[in-house]
Amino acid sequence: MIFRTLLFTLSSFIAFGAENSAYPNAFIDEIPGDSPLVISAPHGGREKPADIPNRTYGVTDADANTQELARTVGEHFFKSTGHRPHLIICLLHRSKLDANRDIKEAAQRNAIAEKAWHDYHAAITRALAAAVARHGFAFLIDLHGQNHKGLRVELGYLHSSTKLAQPDPLLDAPAFAATGSLQFMAKNATVSYSALLKGPTSLGALLENGGFHSTPSPRLPVPDEPYFRGGYTVDRHIRGTPEVTGLQIEANRTRLRDTAANRERFAIVLVPSLLTFVRTHLKKDLGGR
Ligand SMILES: [Zn+2]
Repeated sequence: MIFRTLLFTLSSFIAFGAENSAYPNAFIDEIPGDSPLVISAPHGGREKPADIPNRTYGVTDADANTQELARTVGEHFFKSTGHRPHLIICLLHRSKLDANRDIKEAAQRNAIAEKAWHDYHAAITRALAAAVARHGFAFLIDLHGQNHKGLRVELGYLHSSTKLAQPDPLLDAPAFAATGSLQFMAKNATVSYSALLKGPTSLGALLENGGFHSTPSPRLPVPDEPYFRGGYTVDRHIRGTPEVTGLQIEANRTRLRDTAANRERFAIVLVPSLLTFVRTHLKKDLGGR
């Protein structure tokens, strides 16, 4: 962090173009892994360099402690499997860059923020390509935090609550699965798509079994509003990309991401839930063997 601050201070004395090329990825923590799991965390950054003006529209509040949550999940994944997920963490505070928006809203015409946005998404593309090359598939989690009522983990598969409220035969139409982030998994699964989203072997069910209220799940198959369905990153990097699947995870704050002990408690439930979910429905080992 000190090194990065020094680089940035130094860079402010030299030409902008030179700074851009001299310090690639200055605001992205890209940690390559060796498993099919890729975790991105766009809203947990804290750096507020003066050279980047504050964004003037859109959401500017950070998702507190989500970079720590991503790192904790990574450590627990390694303890459980002996393999590491790829981690891509945006270090800029959301008031400077919102990496989970299109570049216009994300960087609001600031060239340093625009470069960080390109670096961030290039790092995700690299990690997914490395995972697919090595394992034949990749599973992306875009990790966020929300403060909606009811303390629940919101699982975003790119389907709105209105769409999720449709009768199961409509959810099970192949054209509907094609609009979501589990399309690749759905092609391999032996259960219906509606069961994949909210049935007894869904990720929501597995997390609930571990003590974390989640939606969609058998208990709450249709999320009440407000609910985050998944955003720019999941849409860009998963939907329509063969051999890549995954979702947006929006973690509640209280009793989940507020303390190191609670982040560890969630990681201990999330990791085996993911391993089981992928083994059951994709017939593949997320552990990377
Ligand atoms: Zn977020």
